[in-house]
Amino acid sequence: MEKVWVDAKKNNGEPTKALLFVMHEDEYQDLGADQAGLCLACGAEVYYVEPDAVGYRCEECDARRVVGVEQALLMGRIRFKEDA
Ligand SMILES: [Zn+2]
Repeated sequence: MEKVWVDAKKNNGEPTKALLFVMHEDEYQDLGADQAGLCLACGAEVYYVEPDAVGYRCEECDARRVVGVEQALLMGRIRFKEDA
């Protein structure tokens, strides 16, 4: 999995950076099976997170920005890589 910062806009239109998780589809399946969550603030992987969780606390950076993998996909934060 690669973590990439991309340009994004806040709700008020101000420019910001958003973290994008780039992975193969089978990695996504594995993360879901492991009940992994992803921190949108620092990119940490956190476990025992329901796939549709939102706003869990991150053990790494303490931000309440951890979401489950299904939720991250819905939010457009997961991009699938094509197989090489
Ligand atoms: Zn974090």
